[in-house]
Amino acid sequence: MHYVQPDLPYDEAALEPAISAKTVHFHYGVHEKAYIDNLNKLIEGTTFADEDLEEIIRTADGAILNNAAQAWNHIFYFFSLNPDGGGEPDGELRKAIDRDFGSFEKFKEDFVDAGVRLFGSGWVWLSKDQDGHLLITQEPNAGNPMRHGLTPILCFDVWEHAYYLDYQNRRADALRALWQLVDWDMVCTRY
Ligand code: MN
Repeated sequence: MHYVQPDLPYDEAALEPAISAKTVHFHYGVHEKAYIDNLNKLIEGTTFADEDLEEIIRTADGAILNNAAQAWNHIFYFFSLNPDGGGEPDGELRKAIDRDFGSFEKFKEDFVDAGVRLFGSGWVWLSKDQDGHLLITQEPNAGNPMRHGLTPILCFDVWEHAYYLDYQNRRADALRALWQLVDWDMVCTRY
């Protein structure tokens, strides 16, 4: 199988001012593409060549795992954002957020806080377990909650490449700005 990077459903400049066109260009067009290109080279001739991406993430190790997870994580992240996003979730996901975090405001605070406290590169995730309970987890580097049997709902990228051009060292500001872009209609379908 040869993995192809999906086109984003919005222009590179569409997420401004929260995320600049330059960041979308380098982050998705260069960094994310490199993970997919690397993965395609690494799996050639291996037992992973015909696996789907999620199966590779669950079962691979080393460079194949890292590139597969980074390929998947970035697609999940960029497709969670939308220039018409923002606002608040509703339906079953909203009920679960209120139940497990107390309120939507408290959830946002805890989520950003987990992203800020993650030392170095990685991702902050909202996932559900097999009983539908929500959890916020930190994953270093290419980490993905599917490795722990969880179902990912939302992620924010806290690698410096995600925000350095626009925010330099201000990770908390970069993460808080993402709330105005989260496409809750789409994210709610993952719960
Ligand atoms: Mn990234």
